[in-house]
Amino acid sequence: MARDHAPAPLEAVTERVLRGGPLDLADAYALVRGADDALPSLLAAAGALRDRGKGRVVTYSRKVFLPITNLCRDRCTYCTFRKDPGDPGAWTMTRDEIVEWITAARRQGCKEALMCLGDRPETAFPEYRATLRELGHDSTIGYVREACEIALELGILPHTNAGLLTTEEMRLLRPVNASLGLMLENVSPRLRAAGMPHQYAPDKEPARRVAMMSEAGRQRIPFTTGILIGIGETPEERVDSLFAIADLHATYGHIQEVIIQNFRGKLGTPMADATEPTAVDMARTVAIARLLLGPDVNIQAPPNLSPDAHRLLLRAGINDWGGISPISRDYVNPEAAWPMIPALARTCAEEGFTLRERLAIYPEYVGPRFLDPALAGLVDRLAAGIHTEDVHAYGAH
Ligand code: SF4
Repeated sequence: MARDHAPAPLEAVTERVLRGGPLDLADAYALVRGADDALPSLLAAAGALRDRGKGRVVTYSRKVFLPITNLCRDRCTYCTFRKDPGDPGAWTMTRDEIVEWITAARRQGCKEALMCLGDRPETAFPEYRATLRELGHDSTIGYVREACEIALELGILPHTNAGLLTTEEMRLLRPVNASLGLMLENVSPRLRAAGMPHQYAPDKEPARRVAMMSEAGRQRIPFTTGILIGIGETPEERVDSLFAIADLHATYGHIQEVIIQNFRGKLGTPMADATEPTAVDMARTVAIARLLLGPDVNIQAPPNLSPDAHRLLLRAGINDWGGISPISRDYVNPEAAWPMIPALARTCAEEGFTLRERLAIYPEYVGPRFLDPALAGLVDRLAAGIHTEDVHAYGAH
């Protein structure tokens, strides 16, 4: 996609993209380096493109966050989620806890069970291997599959983000998940170098993450990915990462949503004092993602990580807020409370948008190509439980 030329002026770039032309790498670099006074034009173009594909509707998924295990073999320097066995707060959910949480979530109208956990802890911790054996499993993914089956029995759709998965593991999870997720975070291998945030995180090797997402595409799995900004990457590396996601989607068509997530510094971590991205950084990145990915791709920003920038993010071209839980915290960002859904709906309305609930699989992915037929009935029933004006979006398949 790279083109060896001087970047065009902003107006020429946005006009070309709005006419259906591509955003090329040199122009995207120019946009990401751009002056703040060019921001209103950039946001206006991205917002117009979003309106063309998504109208004035912004969605969210009502979910429960299940931290199946917070043990993790990696050590990202911004993370407070991960624990070693024996650390205060180290936790692997029991079956009873999983049943109890999902039952409570159903009572609260949740339709998504987010299975979120550390990367492959059984390879690092003998104590955890013993825990798995007591649970009747020899791998974390075997236990996650059982948790997904429990969720389906209780009438809620699993979405699993379990870190890097093998081909076989994705085959195991596909029939019991509405969708799977893995943040690319950033495509630059530089972030794994000495002193960088992923030095001690072998599962954050970008090539391995791209390879997994390619395999998910071959398996026709609706997939959630995204980038994490503010962890030491350059602005150009943010753009490179968006291009990597765009390439995957162009090849397989399976990227159902792209998250633009901002790093938030956490007490007690090596990156506690690192500078956080500003709201303008977020808005600029969202807008470039929209111009690159086009009107039809779902672009999401987590509302709890930018509580004062909801209006700006709407103007920048998002059409989704991701999962919001009425009953469980964001265990990855425990300091960041979810917004109250009615308050978020009011903000959206004031900006001219309707906030609507969606499922863990977007309507455009419902159908035999991407959804296991065994899940179709539950998807239909849950879609029917969404406010009636939204039912048509899921339609028959
Ligand atoms: S961010 Fe994920 S992979 Fe990295 S240490 Fe935390 S739980 Fe592990």
